[in-house]
Amino acid sequence: MTVMIDLKNVSYRYPVSDDFVLKNVSFSIEKGKFTAIIGNNGSGKTTLCNTIRGFIPHFYKGDLEGEVIVDKKRMSDYQLGQLGEKVGYVFQNPFIQVSGVKDNVFEEVAYGLENLGVPVEEIKKRVEEVLTLVKIEHLRDKNPFDLSGGQRQRVALASIIVMDPDILVIDEPTSQLDPIGTEQIFDIIRLMKERGKTIVLVEHKMDLIAEYADNLLVMHEGELVMNGPVREVFANPAFRKYEIQYPHVTEIALQLQNLGMPLSFLPVRDIELAEALNMTGVNEYDRTSLK
Ligand code: ADP
Repeated sequence: MTVMIDLKNVSYRYPVSDDFVLKNVSFSIEKGKFTAIIGNNGSGKTTLCNTIRGFIPHFYKGDLEGEVIVDKKRMSDYQLGQLGEKVGYVFQNPFIQVSGVKDNVFEEVAYGLENLGVPVEEIKKRVEEVLTLVKIEHLRDKNPFDLSGGQRQRVALASIIVMDPDILVIDEPTSQLDPIGTEQIFDIIRLMKERGKTIVLVEHKMDLIAEYADNLLVMHEGELVMNGPVREVFANPAFRKYEIQYPHVTEIALQLQNLGMPLSFLPVRDIELAEALNMTGVNEYDRTSLK
């Protein structure tokens, strides 16, 4: 097991704020794992992302205590430029991620590699590959500003993926997208996981988290209050007190359990509901007779 991200007793206070917004946070994330950070607004999720991608302390000053280690190296020993190649960051808002200096999608995706001085032939090859992967070849000649939100978010992801970082930190990438745009983004994230990337995602859509993520970090008022495999966190009765949504199917199953219906396990994905309620034995005949 290789640890990719390791935080030890990390506390952080922004320069202008009185209170610490991260309080003694410790966890490690293994290489290749998909970890979702959840918690209510203001609980410190984005600040935590900024710590993992080195924006704190390289860009935001303030008081940082404890240790942040990324790929076996202390954050303070990285140059900001090196970090950009190690950790790719995708913003919540695709409209601010577009560089504004390139007038077509192909060049927009190539922009980061150009800045690194990668040879032109290699840039072309890598951009072609990523456009296909993210399914935006058809947008290659379009101006990034003429795209829909979902298309722009895919361009934003492509611009990061093309840099081939080991770690992807993605902060609420689907908050402005419709269900189809959301599925497309999760498809790309799934592909990145298959390629062995370590993924850290802030997301409120619990059904998608339950479907795709391996582990959950639950933030509450700056503290990491729960940390574990997705299913274990949702099944832990302590989860409810943080007033975070459950996946829909989990919420339904818990209500049925409250009404006295026994569950064989707590379902977190839609397809698990029948099995959890011991209904998979219902045969075709029974089903038709129920109509
Ligand atoms: P979340 O992503 O869970 O909504 P944030 O990390 O954005 O939480 O915010 C955590 C706390 O830090 C909030 O109280 C917020 O007001 C504060 N905060 C966020 N960004 C800044 C900043 N640049 N300067 C000062 N305080 C900030």
